[in-house]
Amino acid sequence: MIQQGNFLLMEKDEFRDWLSKQSVSRKIDRLQVHHTASPNYKTRRMVNGIAQQDHFECLEGMRRYHLSEGWSGTGQNITIFEDGKVGISLDRNLNKTPAGIRNANSGAICIEIIGYFDKGNDVMTDKQKNAVVHIYACLAEKFNLTIDTNHIVYHAWFTYGGTRLTDFKPGESSKTCPGTAFWGDGNTVAAAKKNFLPQIQAELDQLKSKNKTTVSEDDQPMTIQEQADFQALQEQVKQLTSKLSMDKIPDWAMEACVAAKNAGAVDTTSGGSFDFYRLITVLYRKGFFK
Ligand SMILES: [Zn+2]
Repeated sequence: MIQQGNFLLMEKDEFRDWLSKQSVSRKIDRLQVHHTASPNYKTRRMVNGIAQQDHFECLEGMRRYHLSEGWSGTGQNITIFEDGKVGISLDRNLNKTPAGIRNANSGAICIEIIGYFDKGNDVMTDKQKNAVVHIYACLAEKFNLTIDTNHIVYHAWFTYGGTRLTDFKPGESSKTCPGTAFWGDGNTVAAAKKNFLPQIQAELDQLKSKNKTTVSEDDQPMTIQEQADFQALQEQVKQLTSKLSMDKIPDWAMEACVAAKNAGAVDTTSGGSFDFYRLITVLYRKGFFK
């Protein structure tokens, strides 16, 4: 995770943990879906799938443009790159209403997906797809949102004035965003329901099942067998510890200890380990301290 200028840049897999630490006081009930149109894969200068433009340069460029439009900061809260990296707008943190869909931003988080996904233009990379699915699933988990077209909304489903349409309608929709070929299926409600939303749902289910496994393993009380095993283990540790440094000289080693001390072989024979007393006794029986 790197912070630079007005943005935080992280790997897709860092997002969920980061998100869990964010305290968001405004009520979130919608996640917007946008493509940036520009910047896109061309302006990112992709060579063999790798953008030559720096991530922060791209993010700051969008911010400068938004500020020049008179906005108070970067329009979107979150940006997802073609390589799966995720940009967080520090001047548009999650507590700030975004500027994503005119008159329809209250209660929303604006996510911009880098690229131009109208037909005949950019084809989304798998890395970006995976990150997109993961980010929406994490946000749905965090804000307890149902995965449907009321809670995950395409820009194209709104008029320029911010009225919600039943679907993308050329001439009525303010934009084609997130693209007429978005996700390979397009920007209609049917297209969203075909692959995009089910893939987010599947990712969300997986996140939740991971939680469940962790919780049940941690929370379950010990079984009777486990309790017995645990007690036996404790008893063993106690015995080993007592053998390591014995409270008093064992009776069977007393005579040997006295002899060893008298012979000047050891200064003290108290507080020794079980093995120490055994060794002294063996040596004594062999006639060493006479
Ligand atoms: Zn848009």
